[in-house]
Amino acid sequence: MRLYNTLTRAVEEVVPVEPGHVKMYACGPTVYRYAHLGNLRTYMLADLIRRALRLEGFRVTLVQNITDVGHMTDESSPEAIDKMLLAVEDEGLQPLEIAEKYTRSVFEDAAALGIDEPDMSPKATEHIPEMIGLTKTLIDREHAYVVDNGSVYYDVASFDGYGKLSGNTLDKLREGHRDLETDPRKHHPADFALWKAAGPGRLMKWPSPWGDGFPGWHVECSAMSMEYLGDRIDIHTGGTDLRFPHHEDEIAQSEGAVGHRVVSIWVHGGHLRQAGQKIAKSTGNVVRVQDLVDRGIDPLSFRWLCFQTQYRSEMDFSWDAMETADQRVKQLRRRMAGWAPAAEASSDEAVAFDGRFRAALADDLSFPAAVRVVNELVSSTAVPGGEKYALLADWDRVLGLDLQREAVAAWSPTEEMRALMKERDEARAAKDYATSDRIREQLTSMGVEVMDTATGTQVRPRD
Ligand SMILES: [Zn+2]
Repeated sequence: MRLYNTLTRAVEEVVPVEPGHVKMYACGPTVYRYAHLGNLRTYMLADLIRRALRLEGFRVTLVQNITDVGHMTDESSPEAIDKMLLAVEDEGLQPLEIAEKYTRSVFEDAAALGIDEPDMSPKATEHIPEMIGLTKTLIDREHAYVVDNGSVYYDVASFDGYGKLSGNTLDKLREGHRDLETDPRKHHPADFALWKAAGPGRLMKWPSPWGDGFPGWHVECSAMSMEYLGDRIDIHTGGTDLRFPHHEDEIAQSEGAVGHRVVSIWVHGGHLRQAGQKIAKSTGNVVRVQDLVDRGIDPLSFRWLCFQTQYRSEMDFSWDAMETADQRVKQLRRRMAGWAPAAEASSDEAVAFDGRFRAALADDLSFPAAVRVVNELVSSTAVPGGEKYALLADWDRVLGLDLQREAVAAWSPTEEMRALMKERDEARAAKDYATSDRIREQLTSMGVEVMDTATGTQVRPRD
């Protein structure tokens, strides 16, 4: 499996520090508003990497944080307003109620898009002691300093590698800040807060060695990633807008604290646009999962739409393209329903298709190439239908399109299976368990799962 590493600007082989076990961290949602399809495309990227690695036989642990501490509308402005406070005023709920409401909604939206849950979803508010601990370490190691109002800043000039991810040098950053208001207590305009003193009206605050306050945004990802994955992390993902300052600052914090490289490969997903505009709360063109449902589109079809574009590229969202993707996914399910599944895809042609599909994913997650293989397979005259079924069912572990849905709904046991089911029920009634077990094995060998229910033996096709 090879992925483009933003840090080295090269496509690199994934070589986990612990052999066979890939440790991944993904920057997660801020939970004071609904997630839109652009956010969800980024969360899907982490899950697709995990699915592709699992297909290659790796064990994967994916940690994705939940940012439930409010952050500022504009970190550099003295008039900055806490975004959580805005949501609280709009909705008349308490901060933790807001966080709970939007956390639930983002999990529901992710599930509707077939994004499997992370293995762990730590919340920022439950890791304040870890963040304070990391901040203390950075002060001890002279990477951070306390200012008189009780805030703590990271000293970017103290960290040699600052700017290595984004290419922003300290000189360039000083230029860029010339006309902006910044805290005069900062040593360098790019110094960022690890801990902020709580101002008046601040709803979410915690005690600390520097007084009541709250953590800076960047510090939560350093603290929680190292808490759950250790100080050697194989892959870190996020949207391209997080490269700077969020990920640059995360590198400075984590590496400043432990003294060595922490993340091997940084992967960044491209923006989603609609009619040339970035899909974002601020541009007002937000599309949500519910908008898909309202138009009769299966949310899983959004995956197929995403697969048409390389994950690193900006992707244009249009309702026409969304409708086309939806029709294609539904058509694929109908084609699957027309093929009787073969136990395995063993013909030379099928094996070649399988090799091409896996090679496409292993090549920096090239879904556009993988999609071409799917389309060619479906229309191929060289591969028997049953083998097409077997291949697509296997690939669907990564594609996540629920391709067997129609086939399973349309499925019913054959005459032979029905006779065996009846025979087995009779054997069980007569407490002849040897016969009952033998028939179970016979049914299993026909590719079905055998279930004992209140009405007797039932079977369904195995996944
Ligand atoms: Zn993060």
